[in-house]
Amino acid sequence: MPRWWAGPASGLPGKDKRKLTNKYLCVHGHFYQPPRFNPFTGEMPREAGAEPFHDFNEKIDAECYRPNAQDGNFELMSFNVGPTLAAWLERHDPETYRLIQAADRGHVAKTGHGNAMAQAYNHTILPLANSNEKRIQIAWGIADFRHRFGREPEGIWLAETAVDYETLCQMAKQGIKFTILAPWQAASGIDTTEPYRVFTCEGEAIVVFFFDHDLNMKISFDETQTINADYFASQILAPRVNWSKLQRGEPELTFVATDGEVYGHHKPGRDRFLQYLVKTAAPREGFDVVTLGCYFHAHPPLHEVHITDETSWSCFHGVRRWEDRDDCAGDQNDWKKRLREALNGLASRLDAAYQQIGARFARDPWEILERYIEVKLGTKTAADVIAAFGANPASPEGAALVTMMESQYYRQLMFTSCGFFFDDLDRIEPYNNVAFAAKALELARAAGVDDVEATFVNGLEAARSWRTGRTAKDIYLDIVSHR
Ligand SMILES: [Zn+2]
Repeated sequence: MPRWWAGPASGLPGKDKRKLTNKYLCVHGHFYQPPRFNPFTGEMPREAGAEPFHDFNEKIDAECYRPNAQDGNFELMSFNVGPTLAAWLERHDPETYRLIQAADRGHVAKTGHGNAMAQAYNHTILPLANSNEKRIQIAWGIADFRHRFGREPEGIWLAETAVDYETLCQMAKQGIKFTILAPWQAASGIDTTEPYRVFTCEGEAIVVFFFDHDLNMKISFDETQTINADYFASQILAPRVNWSKLQRGEPELTFVATDGEVYGHHKPGRDRFLQYLVKTAAPREGFDVVTLGCYFHAHPPLHEVHITDETSWSCFHGVRRWEDRDDCAGDQNDWKKRLREALNGLASRLDAAYQQIGARFARDPWEILERYIEVKLGTKTAADVIAAFGANPASPEGAALVTMMESQYYRQLMFTSCGFFFDDLDRIEPYNNVAFAAKALELARAAGVDDVEATFVNGLEAARSWRTGRTAKDIYLDIVSHR
């Protein structure tokens, strides 16, 4: 049994000595944007529909990230900011970025636990990824978090909360203690007001917080329920509390987890609703507003549950939305399946080539790649990273290794879930994934990996937009002719 389960629940540790009521509320916001840059120029193209802003990152920053940060909302909730968004904020809105970092630091100082969670690096649907990819996604997500928040993450957010046991096992092995899932991802009935322990592999376990789906729906989509936070707290939150549980002295966590962009971008004004709810209205109804980090330590799970492999929060058919024709997206043909087949084929050739080159320097070449994220974070040079494995970038083998790690970086980006989320191929999101694939392929070729392009391009031809008739091959040729 891992050390962190041991011992009785003892209330909030650290300096916060408030008396606890056993009636808790936590609101989690998943803040995320996909990588929007052109991998050949590093620039962000102007995006139609974002006007008067240059692109959607700028637009959503103005409507959501900045106002929420300035109003102190990040301090009032549990949150994760995806690495690709965090990197953008760091560069384009450093003040907002610093406020978000400070929110987590403030919680650490006050309670001993931060309120930020990490995110699997690139918003990949992990049940559809191979074992090495899962491992890299989690390792890079943890490293990115450590760099930005100056501490080890305790929790990690999975893209679309898509999960399987292999993913949970990787998380546990890498020191992650908890995650968030939808209630239907449990294999049996659960009570969303308490966390559960899920055994993963080799005696490891992860704690899962299941969100309250009905509250999520009301906050995300139902305008009539969120006009007045006092009404919401007294008429919606308060009546849901199970009084017999409270009378038995059992803690009860009301837990909401939504996209962070709900607060101000998808729904103008909902950032102010959030603030009033967690700051004033819910405490007035007796709710102690907590973070998952604090709750996890104060009230370890009492029960175990099994999860259902290949499930997620935004597809009711498992993870089919990101791999095949699916009703949730309204797909009209099988372009996702064809595109994914082509990308999977490319990925396995790139992985084999990387493994071959990396095997000269490490028994486990993926360990070198795990550390490569330091180069992208600007904390190490590629020479430093490979020198630790006895490789020299001035040698042809060392240079090839560095180039293949850069190729692997884009090979990870080409599976960004947003490329498979919507109903059609001929959109910016799948276009970006194909562009990342083109970049990964170009780098691999520079490292001497040949005979990969023809098969890949043939595969792309089978993926066709039902709206415009363009194929993924057309998109690929358009990208490589403009690089
Ligand atoms: Zn579905």
